[in-house]
Amino acid sequence: MTTVLTLRVAAISRQAPWVSSASVKDKITKIKRWLENCKSNHGNHCMPKAKRIPHRLIDGGTSEHPPRLVLGQQIAIQNQQYTTLSHCWGASLPIRTLLSNLQLYSDQIPPQTIPRTFEDAMLITRELGVRFIWIDALCIVQDDAKEWEQEAAKMKDIYSGSILNIAACDSPGSAGGCFSMNRSLTQTFHLPLVEGVPKLLVRLQPGDTRQFTKQTILSSRGWVLQEQLLSHRIISCMSDELHWECSEAYETELGIQFNSHPSDIRGDPRMYQCPTRWHVVNFSERNFTYWNDRLPTLSGIAENYESITGDISIIGLWQRSLIQDLLWIRMGPIAPKPARGIGAAGLPSWSWMSCPSRIKFNIWQLTMRVRQIDRYVRVQEYCKLIDFSVTWAGISFVSALKSAHIVLYGPSVEVTIDIEGKLEQSNPPSFTVRYLNGVELCTGAI
Ligand SMILES: [Zn+2]
Repeated sequence: MTTVLTLRVAAISRQAPWVSSASVKDKITKIKRWLENCKSNHGNHCMPKAKRIPHRLIDGGTSEHPPRLVLGQQIAIQNQQYTTLSHCWGASLPIRTLLSNLQLYSDQIPPQTIPRTFEDAMLITRELGVRFIWIDALCIVQDDAKEWEQEAAKMKDIYSGSILNIAACDSPGSAGGCFSMNRSLTQTFHLPLVEGVPKLLVRLQPGDTRQFTKQTILSSRGWVLQEQLLSHRIISCMSDELHWECSEAYETELGIQFNSHPSDIRGDPRMYQCPTRWHVVNFSERNFTYWNDRLPTLSGIAENYESITGDISIIGLWQRSLIQDLLWIRMGPIAPKPARGIGAAGLPSWSWMSCPSRIKFNIWQLTMRVRQIDRYVRVQEYCKLIDFSVTWAGISFVSALKSAHIVLYGPSVEVTIDIEGKLEQSNPPSFTVRYLNGVELCTGAI
């Protein structure tokens, strides 16, 4: 007989040296139960939704047949279930599909070349009774620019159509696996003084363990935001425990359940005031290996919100709230120039996308609590959006931006802007804005 005693503690570090207690087999059994429960007892919100199957998938193989690439359209409709993998590429990905190995991988992906994270995700997929999995590095030919552009534009369908998104949260590269450290927050103590209770399980429970998923290596990556937003079910494989999240439930491996709530990132954006601005702030804090990926990463999110709200995205801003969206401010230092490419080139300065740094909206929110804002701040717009135009070379967000402009109507005043200090000494420069009569209006930094 085992009695479980739960102790609530204020905070537990994710680095606490807990001893492993659950095997990979136990963990996969847990994932199976969660998925079955979601399928059987949850509503339509949790079901995969997609207009089309991904162009290419991995047939996960069996003990006799190694994995291989297959075309989605060749899979019979009744077999089109697939999982997806969210992972960090790391400094160098040992395996990816190129034009030169596409034919080879279509016959078989050499098992000895498959990194641990991919292998674990394929194992979970097989154990769930699902045959196919989508992994970006293998299912998109990485040196085929046209295919990359076409597939990057389909992220909404790829992730929202997945039966389960497997998030390898704590692996900085593809070698770490989904069950890398396999620690547990549970420890067993023998308390002989408790009469009739030979074994007592003591569970140390921090207040809200959901925050752990936001502290992982994976959640700092730019591409992962849309994977988190667009998937209807996510299994977060963290080093200390698994977390299950779907549109109707949130449960940890230790059995702690949380109510889903509308502020959840997958909630209906009509439920709260400015979800797109929240996502922008979240997005601007993330890291990108390729700076040019910032725009394509927004494509799935923008398409998702456009389909739900009917609003129109204008390079990261929104038609209905454009006047307030223009009030973004830079909050952090300019990000160090990424190794490959810089996305700010050619972007209009009125879009926060031109600013390679952390940003925020609504400057008054920096010093006021939400209740104070509700009580004291009434926003009156004296400006109107008259016209706008955004032209892309090809598919929106994933091809080059050819031109963009907005036309506003409202009161205006002529000012002078004086840059303070030399650019090379102060980057970005601070500046002072003055009326033409020399009276100072404000100071700041671009
Ligand atoms: Zn569910």
